Amino acid sequence: MLKTKNIFIALGIISISICTIHISLGWGFWAHERINRMAIFCLPEDMQCLFKQNIEYLTHHATDPDKRRNVVKDEAPRHYIDIDHYGKYPFDSVPRKWKDAVAKLSEDTLKAYGIVPWYVEKMTYRLTEAFKQKDKNEIFKLAADLGHYVADAHVPLHTTENYNGQLTNQVGIHNFWESRVPELLGEHYDYLVGKAEYIDKPLKKIWQIVLESNAEVDSVLKYEKQLNENFSEERKYTIETKGHQTVKIYSDEFTIAYNKLLNNMAERRLRSSIQDVASFWYTAWINAGQPDLHDLLEKETVIENKDSIGLIQQKLKGHTDN
Ligand SMILES: [Zn+2]
Repeated sequence: MLKTKNIFIALGIISISICTIHISLGWGFWAHERINRMAIFCLPEDMQCLFKQNIEYLTHHATDPDKRRNVVKDEAPRHYIDIDHYGKYPFDSVPRKWKDAVAKLSEDTLKAYGIVPWYVEKMTYRLTEAFKQKDKNEIFKLAADLGHYVADAHVPLHTTENYNGQLTNQVGIHNFWESRVPELLGEHYDYLVGKAEYIDKPLKKIWQIVLESNAEVDSVLKYEKQLNENFSEERKYTIETKGHQTVKIYSDEFTIAYNKLLNNMAERRLRSSIQDVASFWYTAWINAGQPDLHDLLEKETVIENKDSIGLIQQKLKGHTDN
């Protein structure tokens, strides 16, 4: 018994370090890829033709922003906003417009606690410009990135200072909610969501998404805590071998019970992500004047992002070379 416990403690350290690596990733890689991929099917036919042609690119590059985090200095705060740092729901003390927020709270403070709503607005604008220019590479580079940030804003734990349960003795919950739950149950999700809709005010919309996410934080934390009363440490976790590594993960039984208490919250947020990602792409295209995308079909396929993956590879190479 004691021995088992010691193993759990030892493995817990491994697990915690793994969770720390994953903390700020937003949805796990699996979910991000799925969201960008499925969003394509919400688009109107005039967009879908080109987006379907590049479905593999949009899928694989859904995680570029996370891969950039360790090499691009300003990347990290683009994925979240610890909105409860500023007070209580609905956080009226935080000006919704970037300029007003900077004037009131300072850019340094905003960057310290995350800027996801404003970055989504900026990326929507840039995607609009790319559509106007009919620049195929830029369109897909930006669409893949925008999809990532919009999806991140749907994750409750991306909107709180207690982002990994570190303030409530629930360390690991971030990765649990956004990776373990959808990866175990995602094959059974219903991916038929509505069509993309035009967003009148993108900034207002992304703030609404952030507030919806934040409203779920209490449940995310409360139900995990509640389940702990019925699950021993041994039942809560299981040991899994990944390659040469042995890791401690939340057990299937605990994951399923948690998901049930949350009434499929991860699935609901993932479904909203899919439709909202499509709506942001669609809005950028409409605001660009609905350019005809059919002639871009014959252009070469999208090249790798020079300033994301290429840069990452160069920098990583540089690091190892040094
Ligand atoms: Zn992210």
